[in-house]
Amino acid sequence: MAPVVQKPHFCLGCFALIPAEARVCPCCGADQARLEARDYRAKLLHALLHPLSEVRMRAIIALGWRGEADTAEALVNCAMRHPLDVVQGLEIVRSLSRIESRNPGLGMLARLSKSHPAHAVRTAAMDAMNRPNAWTQEN
Ligand SMILES: [Zn+2]
Repeated sequence: MAPVVQKPHFCLGCFALIPAEARVCPCCGADQARLEARDYRAKLLHALLHPLSEVRMRAIIALGWRGEADTAEALVNCAMRHPLDVVQGLEIVRSLSRIESRNPGLGMLARLSKSHPAHAVRTAAMDAMNRPNAWTQEN
């Protein structure tokens, strides 16, 4: 019989690797059941702080589709925390385009276009402001 492979389990509070059966995180003391009960939006915003880029990426995409104005700043901050992660930066540009298409005048793409350390991300943010339709499409 093949052994059961335990998937790594991350604390929902601090994202430390913890035993799957732990109810309380040994690192930060967070009650896992209480954090699990938070609403989906709060979880997505918190996931932007996750150390694994693929986890952040899912949250970035989901937040873009939700299109809520008050999540845009958290996306900009996420982009600024990872100046070398251009792939993530471009996905954040795409999500911000979706959010700004529903909430004109937020100015978050403008902020990225001025302040992101990566040239590719600044250029993409500028392009998304000038050609929003090209960035809000499915592909
Ligand atoms: Zn923790």
